[in-house]
Amino acid sequence: MPDASNKHRTATRLAHTGRNPNVHDGFVNTPVYRGSTIIHPDMETLESGNMPVTYGRRGSPLVQGLEASIAELEGGARTVMMPSGLAAISNILLACVETGDHILVTDSAYKPTRILCDGLLKRLGVETEYYDPLVGENIASLIRDNTRLVFAESPGSQTFEIQDLPAISAAAHARDVLVIVDNTWASPLYFKPFDHGADISIQAATKYIVGHSDAMLGSVTINAAHADRITAELHKLGNCAGTEEVYLGQRGMRTIDVRLERHWKNGLEVASWLEKRDDVVRVLHPALPSHPQHDLWKRDFLGASGLFSVLLPEVPKPAIAAMLDHMSLFGMGYSWGGFESLAVPFNPSSYRTATPWTHPGVCLRLHIGLEDPVDLIADLDAGFERMKAAA
Ligand SMILES: *Cc1c(COP(=O)(O)O)cnc(C)c1O
Repeated sequence: MPDASNKHRTATRLAHTGRNPNVHDGFVNTPVYRGSTIIHPDMETLESGNMPVTYGRRGSPLVQGLEASIAELEGGARTVMMPSGLAAISNILLACVETGDHILVTDSAYKPTRILCDGLLKRLGVETEYYDPLVGENIASLIRDNTRLVFAESPGSQTFEIQDLPAISAAAHARDVLVIVDNTWASPLYFKPFDHGADISIQAATKYIVGHSDAMLGSVTINAAHADRITAELHKLGNCAGTEEVYLGQRGMRTIDVRLERHWKNGLEVASWLEKRDDVVRVLHPALPSHPQHDLWKRDFLGASGLFSVLLPEVPKPAIAAMLDHMSLFGMGYSWGGFESLAVPFNPSSYRTATPWTHPGVCLRLHIGLEDPVDLIADLDAGFERMKAAA
């Protein structure tokens, strides 16, 4: 791959990394390679394995291009593409743990991460302990002799706590414990996990990297110290991302900075408007000065994406349905990061175990898309009116 050099700024690198028109008859984009078999030119090459790719499962110039782009942007040494964000999480955990291990997972983790820890990992004899996302350097007191890794997610899924990753990493590394972070919210653009102590970062590339709600994709990025060993473990598990999906991920990377800037701006505009309403209890958005860890966000993050939560007053369920069932622009759906706005109700009290969730009402997780925020605000305003009328 030509010129992934750091002499250019991010926007420039996004447009140019991971592609080489010279070897594709001048075509700007790397084509979709369909392939399982790679033909070796002679026995010597076959025996040495000295080919860019030796088997379809290991990728193609297209896959390697996207891996190079994500590794460069996140600041890791090596990226391995996965068929989904959850596959990235399950594969990295399986690659790192063994029977008898203890792992520390943030209480604010994406719910399927918990399901994996409480099910498959438990069955394999790995003990998960959930920790307060605001634990900071006090994670040290939870580390045991058999603690293998700390899993962070910042901000937390749905509840948006910002974690002090440098403090957590320093304490973990003092005991030779790995730090893995789910960096999906910020994308590789707005949080640089390896500058803040992470050893490994995962992305649900399904979200902002693909960016158009049309493909499932994940990535695992590893620092130089662990890249060879962990990449080899991941390869043994046999997962590989689909070639069309990788193409869509690579295409998404070309515009991710432009899209995210708009998600950030639109999201803040809607969040600020929501915060002023008397029928909103609280808005959980790290870029709002009212957010309890706003200072940490300012210290460590380079921007904000379009996802945040709103705590609603205690109203009967039909009043929430009156609001959500008749939105004209906001859809009700779980995967976010596309161009469209979404609203889903949630209540974390059933799955927090280390820290209580005390808000008695329903919460809404909003994804603010690329629509004009004036129209989004009007849609929400009408929704709040329906909620009030039905309460
Ligand atoms: C969506 C999501 C995932 C899972 O990604 P999929 O591609 O949907 O499997 C993991 N972590 C976070 C924080 C997510 O939002």
